[in-house]
Amino acid sequence: MSSSEYITCFYCSEYSRIANDYPINFASKDVDSFTPRCFLHWEYECGKCGEMTHFNGISWCSSCKEFTCLRCVEEKMEKKEFLIYDYFYKIPCHSCGKYSPALDFAEYEGTHPFQIGDLIPEEETVVWMPIHLEELKFQTFPHKAWGLKRILSLGKYVEFKRLDSLGDYDPKSTWDALAPFWEPLFHDGGDYHHKYKILPEVYRLLDVMKDEKVLDVACGEGNVARNLTKQGAQVIGVDISKLVDYAIEREKEEKLGIKYLKLNAEKLASKFTEASFDKAICNMALMDIENYKTTIEQISYVLKEDGIFVFSITHPAFAWPTCTSFRVPKGSQRNEDKLRLVLDYFDERPTLIDYGNDTPSLQFPRTISSYLNELVKNDLILMEMCEPQASEELVNKFPRNAYMDDDIYPDFLIIKTIKKSEF
Ligand SMILES: [Zn+2]
Ligand SMILES: [Zn+2]
Ligand SMILES: [Zn+2]
Repeated sequence: MSSSEYITCFYCSEYSRIANDYPINFASKDVDSFTPRCFLHWEYECGKCGEMTHFNGISWCSSCKEFTCLRCVEEKMEKKEFLIYDYFYKIPCHSCGKYSPALDFAEYEGTHPFQIGDLIPEEETVVWMPIHLEELKFQTFPHKAWGLKRILSLGKYVEFKRLDSLGDYDPKSTWDALAPFWEPLFHDGGDYHHKYKILPEVYRLLDVMKDEKVLDVACGEGNVARNLTKQGAQVIGVDISKLVDYAIEREKEEKLGIKYLKLNAEKLASKFTEASFDKAICNMALMDIENYKTTIEQISYVLKEDGIFVFSITHPAFAWPTCTSFRVPKGSQRNEDKLRLVLDYFDERPTLIDYGNDTPSLQFPRTISSYLNELVKNDLILMEMCEPQASEELVNKFPRNAYMDDDIYPDFLIIKTIKKSEF
């Protein structure tokens, strides 16, 4: 006997967590994968197209003794919690048109062809007979979308929580709490992402000239403001969090001529007059700002005609919290073991993200169209979009960050706009 005969079926194992009497079959199919399967949980041949089909996409008609796959007909979906799922497909028989559930639900309700004796499995298979069906019906199943949760449990390492309301959280206090962790990262120009991927593009797009008036919105500890000042610009930085205190302290020592204000980015018009800046930058902050619509409107207001607004954000589609990344096997340090999974791109609820220091960051995820449409509404015309990709040079210098990761997915989105002039 080879050791592979002792591999158990993925589905049998999962179902047995819900139904205590579920028999676990040995896997004979797909044994080299992460989801080895038994004969029962393998594939069945469609009576119409002849395609072998996963058991969760094919139904059995006990009147016609025919299988029908969902490629050949139009399925319906029924919401119901059973085993590890919260819905099932009803697939009409290609011959008589009668709807039968896909085999995952059929097995749960005891109408699988192996259970009712319509067919006999060709391989030794212990078939579950749901004798406790009544009992099961009254159980509450905590495992909605179990498949996804299970995949995430394989190697997820960033926790996040969608919030229906902000409750006790607000952007200012979460950033105040993060400030002591954040400031040291930026003391010497930022972490890997900022230094090598975001800021070079931000500076290129902003392209400041000597003596241009630049507003740094949500300037934080002043990294960008200092750099732009060294490029010759006259910079005013605004931020509501404690981070700006670090910037103010540093300005006292370095005397670069930067003016900092503790000001909410949503209230720029309370301090600045209309059309008072040549350029505005909001670096890696708009996704942390609760009211981005007001912020964009206010930025447009303080910008001169033909003024430039550049902002960078975590990528709405490929970065947390829309997209999670995890490694299988868990803890692997090789990037080819890293997968990214887009969870719910359209979910714009505020989200707490815990990067591991017990001080969650609060983000407001938005779709790309939400951002772009807001720019359009405020006369800000798109000039360039940039999704920084790690160069070969970066891959060689920082393989663990860049190889098979930053060179194949954008973590950040940078947008350059120009304020429409009247004429
Ligand atoms: Zn099985
Ligand atoms: Zn078919
Ligand atoms: Zn039929």
